[in-house]
Amino acid sequence: MANGRYRPGECLDCTPFSLGHRRYRCWNRKGHGETEVTKALAVSCNGFFFASFDHDTVLGTVELALRSGYTFVEGESPRLAPDVLIHGDGLKITPVDQARLIAGIVPGVHSPNVKGPPVPFTDPVALAEIRRGMEAAVTDGSGKICRIAGFPVAGKTGSWKGSRWFACYAPADNPRFVVVAYTKGGSIHGGVEVCRRFFLSYLHGQGITVASGRKSRRHRLR
Ligand SMILES: [Zn+2]
Repeated sequence: MANGRYRPGECLDCTPFSLGHRRYRCWNRKGHGETEVTKALAVSCNGFFFASFDHDTVLGTVELALRSGYTFVEGESPRLAPDVLIHGDGLKITPVDQARLIAGIVPGVHSPNVKGPPVPFTDPVALAEIRRGMEAAVTDGSGKICRIAGFPVAGKTGSWKGSRWFACYAPADNPRFVVVAYTKGGSIHGGVEVCRRFFLSYLHGQGITVASGRKSRRHRLR
C-alpha cells in the first residue's frame, strides 16, 4: 500500500500457484478465492500475500523487517526472488520486539517507556486497513477465540514450525494493552487462548464480569 502497488478494496486471487520449483498455497486448501486485504488479515490468507509479492515488494518487506527489529537467523538466508518470502524464512524477532511493533500500529498516544528502533509504519491509509483487518480477525477470523463481550480485541495469528502466536492489542478503539503470546505445539489456537485468559483475568481483577460465550475446552493448552 505504501508503494502504491496495492490499493484498499482490491481483490487478489488466493488460488495456489508455482514459482520456480516451489508451490505456494494458502493454509486453506480450497483457497479463499478473490480476497481483499482486510479479509486476508482476518483469516490469515497466505495466498493473498503470496499473490501480492513481487521482487521489489519482497525486498522492501525484508528491508522494512530489518528496520523494525527483525534479525537474520544464523545459518539461514531469507528466501528472495525468484522465490517468495514466507514469514519466518530466515528472519526472526523476539516477542518483546514484536509487541513493540504492534504498539506502533495501534491508535492513540504511546508510552515514552516503549524503547527500541522507531516503528516505520507511517501511511495512515495502510495503518487503517491493518487495524481493520486485526479487528476482523477477532470478530470473525482466525482470532475468534479472543472475542470478549464489551472488550474489543484486535490481533493477528501466526504459526511457524510448530509455534503458534497471537499478537494483539485491546481495547481496539482505545488500546491500553499490547499482548504477544507464543505456545509451542498443541492447539493451533494456543497463542490466542493465552491472550484471552490474560484479558479475562484483567477484567476479573477490575471487578468486571464477562459472559463466557465460547467454551475453550477444545483448545486446552498443553
Ligand atoms: Zn487464502
